[in-house]
Amino acid sequence: MITNSMTSNHPSEPADKGSPLGFQSHDHDRCVASALAAAEARCADVGLRFTPVRRKVLELLLQEHRALGAYALLDLLKDAGFGSQPPVAYRALDFLTENGFVHKIERLNAFVACSHPGESHSPAFMICRLCDSVAEAQSAPAKGVLGDAAKAAGFQIEKTVVEAEGVCPTCIDKTDA
Ligand SMILES: [Zn+2]
Ligand SMILES: [Zn+2]
Ligand SMILES: [Zn+2]
Repeated sequence: MITNSMTSNHPSEPADKGSPLGFQSHDHDRCVASALAAAEARCADVGLRFTPVRRKVLELLLQEHRALGAYALLDLLKDAGFGSQPPVAYRALDFLTENGFVHKIERLNAFVACSHPGESHSPAFMICRLCDSVAEAQSAPAKGVLGDAAKAAGFQIEKTVVEAEGVCPTCIDKTDA
């Protein structure tokens, strides 16, 4: 267990939308439960089926704030008693990705659970190259230097992929020790 200087998390407050959740100490059981509940509610709202395998894949991705590849997920699904048919896992991943509950990290060819599902947003990922933990922040593709360049070019940005590679606070602490 890693302890860091952040001793106060605020279990009564929702996660700050702007903060990169994955790197901060927080009430993780609550984090998993509320993300699953949010996904369930969202599916009910828009008439999507949150099947047991879709729920399980999301839950597995929520367990650690780390990117998991499709094969790793398949193994975990098998351990959880969901059989080992790749198409089932891939279809569940497609569903979760298309509906914004999960993001694909191109850099790692792997998947992470979204930190704030249900909102349309442009995620920016911070990926630790030592432990593969991933934190999600927001990017604003229509703003900043890229936005200005696009405006000047008469280009309308629909989607950007921001994946920053580096070292997370936990791994920095370990290398200091
Ligand atoms: Zn968490
Ligand atoms: Zn997201
Ligand atoms: Zn790390």
